[in-house]
Parts: sequence; structure tokens; C-alpha cells
Amino acid sequence: MPELPEVETVRRVLELWVKNKRISDTHLYYSRVLEDIEFTLFKEKIINQKINDVQRIGKYLLFMLDDYVLVSHLRMEGKYYLIKDNILDEKMDKYKIIDFSLDDGSTLLYNDVRKFGKMKLLKKDEYLKDVSLKKLGKEPFYISKEELFEKIKNSNKPIKELILDQSVMSGLGNIYADEVLYACKINPLRKGKNLNMEECSLIIEKSIVVLNKAIELGGSTIRSYHSGNKVDGRFQNELKVYGKKGEKCENCASLIEKTVVGGRGTHYCPNCQKY
Ligand SMILES: [Zn+2]
Repeated sequence: MPELPEVETVRRVLELWVKNKRISDTHLYYSRVLEDIEFTLFKEKIINQKINDVQRIGKYLLFMLDDYVLVSHLRMEGKYYLIKDNILDEKMDKYKIIDFSLDDGSTLLYNDVRKFGKMKLLKKDEYLKDVSLKKLGKEPFYISKEELFEKIKNSNKPIKELILDQSVMSGLGNIYADEVLYACKINPLRKGKNLNMEECSLIIEKSIVVLNKAIELGGSTIRSYHSGNKVDGRFQNELKVYGKKGEKCENCASLIEKTVVGGRGTHYCPNCQKY
């Protein structure tokens, strides 16, 4: 599953590829990618729309068209390619889901090996009301310590689960949540209600550091994920605890442990992150 830094990297690449280009045609190869709309109608609405901008809310990519917003969620394995010469390699051809012909002769192709990715077309003046976007909490870049404190102060859930909950704060996925709590020296199992304002402030601060670093390095490439065509992530070289079970903590040389919190594999240093 791509996390916020990967999606932001994809957004930046997409912006370079498609901004200010007009959609001249579209072809669908897997109908279940489209939510709440028949392809015939989708095609009718989207043709001749210009892509004025590519934005992002949480892990949703938003193609800002003239009259609509095309919302895309990559889920597990969704990938975009820009095809300039109409030549697809075998793998690109096998997993194609939908494509968009652009007025400069290039084609934006959406591929998805697992087919979990989704797209929906919303009216421009209504897209923020869409349920899936509305329920997203603010990203670490925008949330205040008071807001985070308010959201977790009565919770019996472990802090790891809370910062993964996209309605509390959006943008942190499993890898980055472990890295953030390690950087904060906060045990992932501590209950939300036991954290103070200062610790909320620290979580926000370290989330921003970790996400910015990951965005700068193009996200991580854990498993098969690649953003865009040729952007490879180097953040995985920066990971301190995620996937490091049994290795020495850089800070205190204790061995990193792995447990499960809210169903997700969770890595931490038992010495630096005391309960
Ligand atoms: Zn340690």
C-alpha cells in the first residue's frame, strides 16, 4: 500500500506529465475501477476537459478538471504511466485498467496488478462533500497539537492505532507510524488518553520530519511499489525500526521488537520506547 509520501511523489510526477493538457479520449479495460458511474456517461463527461491541476487529499489523488474532479485512489498496487510512443511492454499491457488520451498525443495509462484501485468523478463544486474525503482528518502539516489532543484524550486505543486512523490524522501509514513513534520515544501500545499535550506536539513535529524526508527521497519502495515511471524511493535506507526486528536500535543497541497493534505489525525499541 503506497503511503502519503509515495502518493505525493506520484502527484508531483503526474503534475509534470498532465497539467494543462486536455483529455481527448478514454478507454476502459476493467469496469470495476469506476465508482458510481457508467463508463458511457463517464466518457461523455470527461472528454474535452482540461487537467488544470493535480492535487492530493490524504492518499487520494485529485485531477482538477474544468467542471469535475477525477478522484483516484491507488490502493495496493495502482500505478500511472505516461505513454508517448504508443508502445506498451507486456506487463503494462496485461494490467491496464483505464487510459486517457491527451491532446499532445501522449496517453496517461492507469495500471493495477491487484485491481483494488478506484476512481470516481465528482462535480467540482461538490467534491469536498464526498464522504470518503470529508471523513479524513487533517495531515500532520495542518493539524494543531490541541486538535490532536482533543481527538485522542478520551481514547483507550493504543496510540499506534490512533495515528493510523485516517479520521484522527491523515497521512501516516504503517511504516511511517512506527518510525514516528520511535522518533518520539513513545511506546506504540500507550493509550491515547494517557498522552499529554506535549507528546501530541512531538508526534506532529516528528510526523512532519519523517514525511518530509520521505517525500524528499521519493517515498519508500517496500515490496513492489514504484511511484510513476522512473521514480525510485530511497527512504527505506532511512528506516530505523520498521522491518528491523532483532536488529540493534541505533540509539541504545537494544534489540528491536515486533508486536501487533490493531492488526498491524508494529516495530519498536523496548528500551527507548518504554511503556
Ligand atoms: Zn533504543
